[in-house]
Amino acid sequence: MDTMWNTVTGQYFNTVNTISAECGRDILESTLVLCECFEGLLSKTREGSDVWRLNHAQGEWVLISAHTQRILSMALTMYETTNGAFNIAMGKAVNLWHFNDKKQRVPGREELRRALAGADCGRIEQKGDSARLPAGMEIDLGGIAKGYIADEIGAYLRECGVRRAVINLGGNILTIGSKADGTPWQIGLQYPVGDRAKREKYWGLLHSRDNSIVTSGCYERGFWRDGTWYHHILDPRSGMPVQNRVLSVTVRTKDSFLADAVTTPLLILGEREGMELAERYGVEVVYYLKNNEIVYTRGTELMLVREG
Ligand code: ADP
Ligand code: MG
Repeated sequence: MDTMWNTVTGQYFNTVNTISAECGRDILESTLVLCECFEGLLSKTREGSDVWRLNHAQGEWVLISAHTQRILSMALTMYETTNGAFNIAMGKAVNLWHFNDKKQRVPGREELRRALAGADCGRIEQKGDSARLPAGMEIDLGGIAKGYIADEIGAYLRECGVRRAVINLGGNILTIGSKADGTPWQIGLQYPVGDRAKREKYWGLLHSRDNSIVTSGCYERGFWRDGTWYHHILDPRSGMPVQNRVLSVTVRTKDSFLADAVTTPLLILGEREGMELAERYGVEVVYYLKNNEIVYTRGTELMLVREG
């Protein structure tokens, strides 16, 4: 049997996904089928997905998959524990920016205010295998879905008997086992800067053995307009990109669903409140701040990379 180290790559969830594992190509090809299925459930633009049907149901109950139910529940918990900083109900405001297509633009304040009216996750209802949004609300699971999907792919690979793998869904990383020599994977932390050449370099390393490492940053997805950089993580109070001391935040914990769910609010809340949130959820966190300062949870084994 072909049990060499193999890699597959696919474009899903508006990003590039690379899955490498010590297994045959057939198993790896199936992970891309899983990605395709999750895109079909969670995409807000794909007609007929769970999210699309929720967003277009005009206040009616919608039957959704158990996966979507779990992601919704986690998102609602995050909304509560972050006092609304993490808000999936801002779909309309996110759409106005067109971060994922060529029509990127800076929306006006009034337009954003209208898009945010009623964006209150407390009004999302779940019952059994159905959910309901108030008419006019649109949800966006972009800040939380990839972690859930990474865990599902990890569980599938384990069921197939795979002992070593690195699942990278656009920077949302989950590792299984260790490298062939028994040492942990070393996950590089990129410089959170616009300059591509510099970004390709790592400033730090976190080791990972059966861990997830997820980064949220202000530098990756966004656009320049009139000398200002507009990035894709929005302050739910204004609908504008979050402005604080944070350039990027990385989380390490066992479970990728939690890691992804918590990184976006950690970026929004900033390093002070963020440290408390990290403690509450028992995750390790590393902040890279705008003044190049690095702040991290006590005990985190972060290896700094020397330049040159
Ligand atoms: P990435 O998608 O780049 O891995 P994140 O996990 O931080 O990064 O998710 C960012 C995405 O989350 C945005 O593209 C948008 O879809 C959504 N989003 C933006 N602001 C918020 C927010 N305040 N709360 C919840 N989701 C948000
Ligand atoms: Mg996230």
